[in-house]
Amino acid sequence: MSQNWKTRTKLVHTGARRSQYGEMSEAIFLTQGFVYETAEQAEARFVEAGPDEFIYARYGNPTVAMFEDRMAAIEGTEDAFATASGMAAVNGALMSMLKAGDHVVSARALFGSCLYILEEILARFGVEITLVDGTDLDQWRAAVRPGTRAVFFESVSNPTLEVIDIRAVAEIAHTVGALVVVDNVFATPIYSRAVELGADVVVYSTTKHIDGQGRCLGGVVCGSKEFIRKTLETYLKHTGAAMSPFNAWVMLKGLETLDLRVRAQAESAETIARALEGDARIARVLHPFLDSHPQAALARGMMDKGGTVLSIDLAGGKEAAFRFLNALEIFKITNNLGDSKSLVTHPATTTHQRLPDDQKALLGITPGLIRISIGLEDTDDLLADLRQALDKV
Ligand SMILES: *Cc1c(COP(=O)(O)O)cnc(C)c1O
Repeated sequence: MSQNWKTRTKLVHTGARRSQYGEMSEAIFLTQGFVYETAEQAEARFVEAGPDEFIYARYGNPTVAMFEDRMAAIEGTEDAFATASGMAAVNGALMSMLKAGDHVVSARALFGSCLYILEEILARFGVEITLVDGTDLDQWRAAVRPGTRAVFFESVSNPTLEVIDIRAVAEIAHTVGALVVVDNVFATPIYSRAVELGADVVVYSTTKHIDGQGRCLGGVVCGSKEFIRKTLETYLKHTGAAMSPFNAWVMLKGLETLDLRVRAQAESAETIARALEGDARIARVLHPFLDSHPQAALARGMMDKGGTVLSIDLAGGKEAAFRFLNALEIFKITNNLGDSKSLVTHPATTTHQRLPDDQKALLGITPGLIRISIGLEDTDDLLADLRQALDKV
């Protein structure tokens, strides 16, 4: 029966593990270890632990397991493994499956730390990396070869919101048996159809929309039972990037309201993007659901909302961007996204500061570009704040 539940029901109920007290709200099992009744029971559990048998919190914990089960249910995968941060999830997903001599193809437009894992860490261990323009399918076709073990990309890229065709890239990757690993933060589990479109492994930074209220770091990897338990868990349980039970509890509570929050935030983001388009002070407004977005049709086919983030490119460059940021009253200057509070980031001088200028230009990270993460405030108030700040540019 719970298999047929719709997302909003699953977000509230799936994975619940009630103790003998029958608590209503999920319990925080803030414990590192577990007591065995006998030596024989300990021995048996080390041979094979059942679904409700735990050994040590680095391997698993009841609160963390509730969060993992709920994530797998809403993403539509057999299983999931929670990690200490989004980067631990990306690192675990890639490091656990790759070895020297393997080849990986990745989109170039990536979160900075993901690029570091590929170009600095994996390369150091003899994994060959090819970076492509993720929106150009011919580049994927040319790069993939029989030794390609994995392809990796952000389904919607940060901060220019390019959309990558999961179905088409998965078809190309699967011809050589490569695993399709998708960093799906901007699509959120709510409007993601990544698994249906062919993704094998879906990774989230739960720090973003899943917490959604700016409190805890976390990450999760969703995939087949075989991948999660045989490949990933083995790597992560020995290397130690486990999610804290307290953080898992915060994430569980975040999931209960995730659908309501991100739908409201995405609708607000789309309304604001449309209202700002055509303003002479803005050179470009970027949002996947704007008709002016080069991949609007693809985005609408892949997601039922365009996302909670938009970017604008101010015609006046860095000077205009800084004047605009400093004039905002409701929006907070920060480098996070997906929060209930509306946030603004200047990628060229913060998140992407270290990229050489030619790389910035290649990725469209101009001096006037501002990433705007829309929160839960009233849309009219947000628009009024953006407009009064534009007046001061
Ligand atoms: C934030 C983010 C990450 C990293 O997540 P952390 O929780 O900060 O470690 C990875 N990928 C994308 C797309 C992100 O937005």
